[in-house]
Amino acid sequence: TTFLQRLRHTEPQLKSFLYVSDVVLKEAEEIDRKIANNEELGPLAGVLVGVKDNICTADMPSTAGSKILENYKPPFDATAVGKMKKCGAIVIGKTNMDEFGMGSTTEGSAYQVTANPWDLSRVPGGSSGGSAAAVSARQCMVSLGSDTGGSVRQPASFCGVVGLKPTYGRVSRYGLVAYASSLDVIGCFGSSVADAGILLHAISGHDKFDATSSKREVPDFASQCIARDHLDSKPLKGLRVGLIRETIEDGVDPEVITSIRGAASHLEELGCTVTEVSLPSFSLGLPAYYILASSESSSNLSRYDGIRYGKQVVADELNSLYGESRAGGFGSEVKMRILMGTYALSAGYYDAYYKRAQQVRTLVRENFRAALEENDILISPAAPSAAYKIGEKKNDPLSMYAGDIMTVNVNLAGLPALVLPCGFVDSSSAALPVGIQMIGAAFEEEKLLKVGHIFE
Ligand code: GLN
Repeated sequence: TTFLQRLRHTEPQLKSFLYVSDVVLKEAEEIDRKIANNEELGPLAGVLVGVKDNICTADMPSTAGSKILENYKPPFDATAVGKMKKCGAIVIGKTNMDEFGMGSTTEGSAYQVTANPWDLSRVPGGSSGGSAAAVSARQCMVSLGSDTGGSVRQPASFCGVVGLKPTYGRVSRYGLVAYASSLDVIGCFGSSVADAGILLHAISGHDKFDATSSKREVPDFASQCIARDHLDSKPLKGLRVGLIRETIEDGVDPEVITSIRGAASHLEELGCTVTEVSLPSFSLGLPAYYILASSESSSNLSRYDGIRYGKQVVADELNSLYGESRAGGFGSEVKMRILMGTYALSAGYYDAYYKRAQQVRTLVRENFRAALEENDILISPAAPSAAYKIGEKKNDPLSMYAGDIMTVNVNLAGLPALVLPCGFVDSSSAALPVGIQMIGAAFEEEKLLKVGHIFE
């Protein structure tokens, strides 16, 4: 009840949730009954989880922050949600997000603007801003988000919580509303590395409903987070850490760089060797990401035709039914992405944009491969600045896109990355958290969790 009371108390200002469950207490009583009867309890028994609204839940609406899916109730749970529930978790509600995951501030939600708990005049980041703010304000214990280009890691950084983007394919995408299918992954928020690791363990694994989910065995992520080797004086002795040079250059807030350098020294104290490493194609990742993500989304969003799901407009003929349902159902950012994507994919421009972007994607992947041969993990800021003001970048999408520079490359390469708080930036009104991003080789979440747990 502490969480529920806090949720009730803080929600009017924060607006992190689009829907709050009315059966939480009943579900909690069921857990109490199991305890009383000595029945077996799952590893997440009674854990209150917030779920991003683009992840399907059978008993609650799932709108993906869009009017086109207003009141849409899917007939099934996403695989990740089903797995969590099997472990005893209780879904407390659905969290606010930028429409279809397109945005970095959560201002792009068709319903409401979520505030940053550290300073209510600032954005929580996005697109999983509701999930990050909810954990930061302890409205729930952990939450699920999705990360196509940074949507778990950047809001984690802005809200001072832990955010974990798994390797592409580690978690089933079945039931995740598709944005850009070759980049999308469900990720975890927690107030500690251990919480994020335990949640990841519950939702990982192969799923016959998602052909891109990996058949690799799922290691016991939780055990990495209770490792006690940090009782040694140099628990990370021998670990090679590469600080990505391109992420601490001009254009990045100097106070963010100071925090990251401080974190690097802390890693050295723990026994790591830290060296600077260059990813020459780093800056090409941002334009390539926006071309690929928009292209894939223009195709994925074609399914919202006013017939199959959600909002339908009354019209005399089919074309106007499609046209009017989409015109009224999608917000302006989503329409812009569909236009950009359709343009990039069109016959005369395909070679100049989409194909080039795919070539850049190969370069980015190759850069990471080389850097991760020399290093166990790579580090960078999670975002070039701390949380900015609500409204500040609303009419300047390009500057909002530029804020994704630290995260998009990781999605292009499909790698896992962990973000955790590592310092503060002083603003006039509040201290604002800064997050460090730790990037690992594919399927090496265990290593990230271990380092993160010892670091925090
Ligand atoms: N901000 C990025 C975008 O708008 C990433 C969003 C995400 O990861 N879903 O595409």
